[in-house]
Amino acid sequence: MTTIRISLALLVMATLPTPLHAASGSWKAGVAKVRITPEKAMGMAGYAARKHASEGTLEDIYVKALALEDQSGRRAVLVTSDLLGFPADSARRVADRAQKDYHLPRDRLVLNSSHTHAGPVLSRTLSVAYDMNDADWAAVESYTRELDDKVVSVIGAALKDLKPAQLSFGHSEAGFAMNRRAKTEKGVVMTPNTAGPVDHDVPILRVEGKKGALRGIVFGYACHNTTLGGDFYQFNGDYAGFAQEWLERRHPDALALFVAGCGADANPNPRGTPELARQHGEELGTAVDKALAEKLAPIRGPLKSAWDQFPVAFAPSPGREEWEKRLQDPNIYIQRHARMMLDILNRDGRLPAEYPYPLQVWRFDNDLTFIAMAGEVVVDYDLRLKKELGADRLWVAGYSNDVFAYIPSVRILQEGGYEGGGAMIYYGQPGPFAPSVEEMIIGKIHELVKRAGSR
Ligand SMILES: [Zn+2]
Repeated sequence: MTTIRISLALLVMATLPTPLHAASGSWKAGVAKVRITPEKAMGMAGYAARKHASEGTLEDIYVKALALEDQSGRRAVLVTSDLLGFPADSARRVADRAQKDYHLPRDRLVLNSSHTHAGPVLSRTLSVAYDMNDADWAAVESYTRELDDKVVSVIGAALKDLKPAQLSFGHSEAGFAMNRRAKTEKGVVMTPNTAGPVDHDVPILRVEGKKGALRGIVFGYACHNTTLGGDFYQFNGDYAGFAQEWLERRHPDALALFVAGCGADANPNPRGTPELARQHGEELGTAVDKALAEKLAPIRGPLKSAWDQFPVAFAPSPGREEWEKRLQDPNIYIQRHARMMLDILNRDGRLPAEYPYPLQVWRFDNDLTFIAMAGEVVVDYDLRLKKELGADRLWVAGYSNDVFAYIPSVRILQEGGYEGGGAMIYYGQPGPFAPSVEEMIIGKIHELVKRAGSR
């Protein structure tokens, strides 16, 4: 019996918690990617103005994953993608399978999208915006299910690739993002606005393996991935795709992963051609590369995470009479939206009063706080959080886990325009958010940052 007692004691010793301030070298990291370029012509996401399905491919598009394991053996996976946005249903299926197949809890999986407007339509997202028939929608559904499988498999491949690694973090800057909201006599219009708020920060996470070999480059930018317009019909990842490709060509043994930031009210400037998309991509890639060559700050563990899904209220929506009146509106999108709202009223007796907003925070000890916000988040959130939490060790991502609407600040909600509420029609939401939206979300972020910081 003595032997058993000794081995139990050894076992207890072996599972004692590791020091809180473990060295930056005691991580494990794994990377993987999978090509997701559609094989057949299909609907392209992001522009209501498009007249037909895709016509081939300019550059392949990908889903990529970075798996991390801290000193205590806890794992987390960041997924990035050349997509407009993960819809809630696809994200839920992927997260459930990651939990089942890899024991990865929901708070330890981030699903971010680059918001390229030259990727495929997914699920039923923005169905009001697209002129597609039943066969088109069936092709979208089948593509979305195949995408689910690919995302789950790339998560598994990254976890399988876990090897000793070092993490470091720093910033660079790129200047092509420009505010796209201008106030005129007719209200807010979408046009380049040199005076509007914008954030040119480029946060960078460097992942190194043995002997400092570069294995992963994660970088972010807060700008719509829309150099190309609705008249472009070839699949590609826009500037973010070109930036990743540029970095991977320069560092052939590393995977480059782009994380979209709070760029809902920013566009690349100038825009309109593939050459410009490539040019912005190279500018961003060069900015990242410059920082990689400099001394970045080591990131320690442990990695702690917090997740919540909480109701964010819509403003009160109109009654049935108003929706019936809108069926006669000359604007086809207002008509389709009204039809959708009447269908919900007929089915449920009421319209949703709120949306279940997913929010996620990862904290790498005190070295980096990574906030993953859902929806198309305007830059006011990012700038406010940098003021309130400090900009140095902060990374605010938008377009994470569910892209279902624009997320306006109170300022933008009151100003109106596309990001303030106009886009809710295309997203099939009942109407603008209530003015409580900003305080609800910011308050919850502070709560999650505290929760993920407690030792
Ligand atoms: Zn957008």
